[in-house]
Amino acid sequence: MNSMRFDVLTLFPEQIENNINASITGRAVKKGIISVNTVNIRDYCGNSYGKVDDTVYGGGTGLLITARSVYDSWNSLFDNDDDRPYTVYMSPKGHVFDQKKAVELSRKKRLCIICGHYEGIDSRAIDLICDEEISIGDYVLTGGELAACVVMDSVSRMIDGVLPNEEAFTDESHMGGTLEGKSFTMPSEWNGIKVPEVLLSGNDAAIEEYRRISSLVETWIKRPDMLDELDISESEWEKMLALRRTL
Ligand code: SAM
Repeated sequence: MNSMRFDVLTLFPEQIENNINASITGRAVKKGIISVNTVNIRDYCGNSYGKVDDTVYGGGTGLLITARSVYDSWNSLFDNDDDRPYTVYMSPKGHVFDQKKAVELSRKKRLCIICGHYEGIDSRAIDLICDEEISIGDYVLTGGELAACVVMDSVSRMIDGVLPNEEAFTDESHMGGTLEGKSFTMPSEWNGIKVPEVLLSGNDAAIEEYRRISSLVETWIKRPDMLDELDISESEWEKMLALRRTL
């Protein structure tokens, strides 16, 4: 059974704790499958008045979190180099986070996530301690906390025991390079719209086939760019066309 320890360096630990201690991730914390250790960067500011930021050399608006406060809070996480956690900085300059990266990070034992705020963090600390920078999209947030929660949430779902079984996350959009097909629950007819007959048939092979084709059609309609990466056979294209005509 794998487990995961997250260390989050932040100026706003409550933003992380409030989020992660709720719902599915909250239950995983209670069960000890994941643990989240927040470190307040301000505790390592190195002065008696709690100042962690300063003006940017060369001018410009806003304040930058000092290299020292971030480096010292990171350094407090481990005693020897073997325990050094894989370290990422949440940043709009990073590679955009995706399911592939979530899978990769879920295989680490320990992940340190650094959240910037204000104008960000002195680049010297980032260059010295971070293994990579991760963005959650091409836009700018006020701080890295929400982005860190996004990463922790998607990574946590893939740790053993967080979801009921592996299928709960392998059968999802983006896992196999497609989007999930349409899904339905009770009743089998609602507002005059019927659930596709095959899903009520109890025929496992036919249901699996329908799900595959429905997933390809959903991808075709909503994210056609993703189809370029897939190897779709001629017979699958025919079934996709047939299904799409019924929608
Ligand atoms: N001055 C920085 C720049 O232009 O690249 C932006 C700083 S932003 C206002 C403050 C902090 O929010 C960043 O240090 C980072 O930790 C976080 N942040 C902002 N946008 C983000 C994004 N798209 N993904 C991940 N983190 C982000």
